[in-house]
Amino acid sequence: MTPVTRIVIVGGGPGGYESALVAAQLGAEVTVVERDGVGGAAVLTDCVPSKTLIATAEVMTSFADSHHELGIYVDDGTPGTLDRPIVGVDLNVVNKRVLELAQAQSVDIANGLRRAGVTLLSGTGRLDGPRRVVATLDDGTEQTLEADAILVSTGATPRVLPGAEPDGERVLDWKQVYGLTELPRELIVVGSGVTGAEFAGAYQALGSKVTLVSSRDRVLPGEDPDAAEVLEGVFKRRGMRVMSRSRAQSVERCGDSVIVRLADGQTLEGSHCLMAVGAVPNTSGMGLEEAGVFLKESGHIRVDRVSRTTANGVYAAGDCTGVFALASVAAMQGRIAMYHMLGDAVSPLDLKAVASNVFTDPEIATCGYSQAAIEAGEIDAHTVKLPLSRNPRAKMQGIHDGFVKLFCRPGTGIVVGGVVVAPRASELIHAVSLAVDLHLTVDQVASAFTVYPSLSGSLAEAARRLHRRDRV
Ligand SMILES: Cc1cc2nc3c(=O)[nH]c(=O)nc-3n(C[C@H](O)[C@H](O)[C@H](O)COP(=O)(O)OP(=O)(O)OC[C@H]3O[C@@H](n4cnc5c(N)ncnc54)[C@H](O)[C@@H]3O)c2cc1C
Repeated sequence: MTPVTRIVIVGGGPGGYESALVAAQLGAEVTVVERDGVGGAAVLTDCVPSKTLIATAEVMTSFADSHHELGIYVDDGTPGTLDRPIVGVDLNVVNKRVLELAQAQSVDIANGLRRAGVTLLSGTGRLDGPRRVVATLDDGTEQTLEADAILVSTGATPRVLPGAEPDGERVLDWKQVYGLTELPRELIVVGSGVTGAEFAGAYQALGSKVTLVSSRDRVLPGEDPDAAEVLEGVFKRRGMRVMSRSRAQSVERCGDSVIVRLADGQTLEGSHCLMAVGAVPNTSGMGLEEAGVFLKESGHIRVDRVSRTTANGVYAAGDCTGVFALASVAAMQGRIAMYHMLGDAVSPLDLKAVASNVFTDPEIATCGYSQAAIEAGEIDAHTVKLPLSRNPRAKMQGIHDGFVKLFCRPGTGIVVGGVVVAPRASELIHAVSLAVDLHLTVDQVASAFTVYPSLSGSLAEAARRLHRRDRV
């Protein structure tokens, strides 16, 4: 009889819990050590709560943006008020729903893991060499776990800017916003990456006056430039103040206000400030380097495409590796680690096929090679961009902003990437994602039926536009 492989996973977020399920399915004896709650930051404080908050914001925006055009009015009984929507948000109800939903999902995941035979330990893990984990349990006792292999999936924590430390009341990081009982009157969001842009858009939709402080030329510096331009335009049109090339130096609490000082000497005053200036990996003080795991200068764990670290038998997945800060990538890295560790069929991680989404309104979804990569000469590709304003369904729904973009190889017409800027772009990108993953040509994409009228019709149309007679 082959001996059972003992696997210990430190960190129970998507990197950890998805791996645990795969390892249990493959017959391993699996223990997960998690200090804050199964599901990790993704479920309890980051991904799930923010998207639940955004679900409310989305309803508010679509109503505010289109009710006039679509012929809807709100009658509060007062003559002459029909132009003023009387729709508002009760943040207490919203935040209660957010936290309950996150907690329920954490319980669901924990139950699923137990059903699969995984042992869950509530506590903090550290490595004692490459084959042993010491867990300090919540009751203060220690448990030593011998392992044939270890997976580290400890995630990351919001970066704190010195001089702008969150107080949890008015100066907040993204984990603390769900404790707010009232909507911020004037919210200053520092940081215009994905997290900053998502929260800025959401709070504006909920009714806050929002200023977004960006150190770069435009919002979302890491995203498709055309998409970022559309979003910045929409933000401004809805009344957001977007301050570009503005670096926040300090944030000070003054009674019921916050003062944000910028590097150029300007000051901004608001009722609350949300700091969204990136994250640092949870890798210090847990015996990683002592076990032979190489940490980069940033503190991230160096891994290869099958999630191996530099220590034999120690794997790592998710935000602690700094490969791609997405729950889906964390989960994929974790599963790959288990397949490799347990001798199953394994395909190395392929970042070229990752689909990602910015949950703003409109959403920005991308997959495969980017416009920047094409312009930098990393790949030769033809591009087509179609505005949604010409799509019949968009016209019917009063959608004026957004586009679809498709990239294909010049010779073969194989789809290598795409961008969708639209409501629910996160759903529409799946067609591009399938095309990229399965190496479909633009002609194959164009030949599949789409519903008329539908936003996905624009993706088929983009593929048709990329048809070249000389390829036939
Ligand atoms: C606001 C926000 C919104 C996001 N939205 C999305 C989204 O919509 N889609 C998406 O794909 N991604 C999203 N992300 C990114 C996503 O949340 C992360 O990529 C994902 O959480 C990474 O998973 P992980 O398993 O690496 O880490 P985590 O989810 O951070 O889980 C790690 C867990 O390990 C625990 N831990 C740490 N150290 C120890 C230790 N020593 N012992 C025991 N336990 C430990 C931590 O407490 C944590 O619970 C978002 C991120 C943020 C900040």
